Amino acid sequence: MKAEAWQQHSLLKLTELDTELSQLAHRAAHLPEQQRYDEVHAAQRAAADRLSAIRIALEDIEAQVSKLESEVNAVRQREDRDRGLMNSGSISDSKQLSELQHELGTLERRQSSLEDSLLEVMERREQLDSDRAAEQAAVDGLDSDLATAQQARDVALADIEQGRAEQAARRAEMTANLQSDLLALYERQRASTGVGAGRLQGRRCGACRIELDRGELARIAAAPEDEVIRCSECQAILLRIPGA
Ligand SMILES: [Zn+2]
Repeated sequence: MKAEAWQQHSLLKLTELDTELSQLAHRAAHLPEQQRYDEVHAAQRAAADRLSAIRIALEDIEAQVSKLESEVNAVRQREDRDRGLMNSGSISDSKQLSELQHELGTLERRQSSLEDSLLEVMERREQLDSDRAAEQAAVDGLDSDLATAQQARDVALADIEQGRAEQAARRAEMTANLQSDLLALYERQRASTGVGAGRLQGRRCGACRIELDRGELARIAAAPEDEVIRCSECQAILLRIPGA
C-alpha cells in the first residue's frame, strides 16, 4: 500500500488520540465514584430488606397482641358472669356452686397465663418497634449517602464524557482527511492488537516495543517514503518519522 508521508505521520496523532480515548473508557469503567455508589446502594438495599422484615414481624406480633387481648376479654367476661351468678344468690345447689367455683379457679389460671403471654408479646413488640426506628434511621441515612454518591458519580462521568466527546470530535476531523484504505488498515490492526500504528524509534517498533533485526531494518530503510511499512513482529503500521 502507498500513502503520502504526511498521511502516515498523522497516524501517530491518531494513535495518541485513541490511547487517550481508551484511557477515558477505562476510567469510566473503573470509577471509584461508581464503586462507592455500588457499595452504598448494596448497604441501602440490605437495610431496606431488614426494615421490611421487621415490619412483617411487627404485623405478625400485632396480630398476636389482638388475639391475646380478645382471649383475655372473653375469659374476663366469663369470670364476670360466673361471679355474678355466685353473688346473685340464685344458686342454692351446693354441687352447682362448687362446679362454678372450680370453673372460676380454672378461668383465673387461664387469665393469668394469657396475661403473661400478652406481656411477653408486648415486650417483643416494643423491641421490634425500637429495631424498626433504628433501621428506619439507617435507611434514611443511606438514602442520603446514596444521593450524594450518585451525584459524585454523575459529575465524574459527565467530566469523562466531556473529554471523550472532545477527543472523538478531534478524531473525526482527523480521520476525515485520511485516505480510506490506510485508515481501514489502521482500524483493522487496532481491532486485532489494540495498537494500529507505531513510530519506528531507532531499531524498536513503537507499537510492540520489539527490536527489529538488521535485515528488516535494511528493507525498511530501502523502501520509498510513501510505502506503507508494517512491523514484522506485531503487524502495526510502522511510521518513519524524521527525528525519531
Ligand atoms: Zn511491532
